[in-house]
Amino acid sequence: MTGTESAQASAPKIGPPLWLLAELTYRCPLQCPYCSNPLDYAQNDQELTTEQWVSVLRQGREMGAAQLGFSGGEPLVRQDLPELITEARQLGYYSNLITSGLGLTEDKVLAFRDAGLDHIQVSFQASDPELNNAVAGSRKAFEQKLAMARAVKDAGYPMVLNFVIHRHNIHQMTDIIDLCERLGADYVELATCQYYGWAFKNREGLMPSKAQLIKAEAEVNERRRMLSEAGSAMKLIFVTPDYYEERPKACMNGWGSLFLTVAPDGTALPCHSARLLPIEFPNVQSQSLQSIWYDSPGFNHYRGDSWMPEPCRSCDEKGKDFGGCRCQAYLLTGNADNADPVCSKSPEHDRILAARRAADHATAGLEDLSYRNPTNSRLFYRG
Ligand code: SF4
Ligand code: SF4
Repeated sequence: MTGTESAQASAPKIGPPLWLLAELTYRCPLQCPYCSNPLDYAQNDQELTTEQWVSVLRQGREMGAAQLGFSGGEPLVRQDLPELITEARQLGYYSNLITSGLGLTEDKVLAFRDAGLDHIQVSFQASDPELNNAVAGSRKAFEQKLAMARAVKDAGYPMVLNFVIHRHNIHQMTDIIDLCERLGADYVELATCQYYGWAFKNREGLMPSKAQLIKAEAEVNERRRMLSEAGSAMKLIFVTPDYYEERPKACMNGWGSLFLTVAPDGTALPCHSARLLPIEFPNVQSQSLQSIWYDSPGFNHYRGDSWMPEPCRSCDEKGKDFGGCRCQAYLLTGNADNADPVCSKSPEHDRILAARRAADHATAGLEDLSYRNPTNSRLFYRG
């Protein structure tokens, strides 16, 4: 077998991007200190035009994408959102709006429904207005979110609520679930922070201790049991942080395998965090989505397993988790090729253990966190 034949034999088979995430903007009225947007987002204030987004949606659908997420930032700040929703419906996408609820009105919910939006997810910061608004950096956020969660349900959508969980609200698990029951929620995602972007910057002040996590998980399980006994259809989805696992997640189901994110300025990414990696990613303004997905060096960088160093290279679990998350490997070890340190086989797993120990003794209050706003963002790119 020649070298070329050998390389061809081991080349991974590339399927279409089934899931397209359109990050329409980095603008957002809120300031969550766990936001997954890049720390230096304020220097990327260019946004694709409506026509450019329509072209992205069309190209994605032609390639086989079926699921479409509108996110940000806060996607509602884009005045062309109804037009993009209409286009998505005409193209046959199943579309989902991921929103803080700020900027939403009852009329907009109805207009989005009539334009063909399939699903709306409203995020909350806590179960009470004081903590919710302190974390969000907005005095009016909580009441607005309550009103919009109700409006979504009244419009005939399932009520899907998302709570990002961290050490300052994890004690509210029971109250959060009570609130969701009162609202008549259908699905509740209780997602502990994943440490990228602003959450990585604030990790010491956000990461729950092991004891907090165990208590919260027990509370969720107890409430699941009670809901089931009461015949409630409300579903609780509790997402635990990687940092308390011994094996990494199969990040994005494998690099460049299903997910394609397009950032506000048109940069195409294999996941919404990948912008932090020292890799040059293509832009939809200068390349077709087809050539970005199949041919660009950025998207081919971590496909397959030939890039893997040890211990992943000879590991019999590499087909399950693909070596974990490249962004997490980069953030924690400085080299994105390394095994994700969440893995107990990683020589750098002690970084995870150190973070767990730090979480047991952390004292940072909400006032010590770096909030996601343009002023703080500018500090990061000015150095
Ligand atoms: S996490 Fe918070 S700050 Fe970031 S986009 Fe969502 S609502 Fe805005
Ligand atoms: S060594 Fe690598 S491939 Fe094996 S389980 Fe750990 S992260 Fe996964």
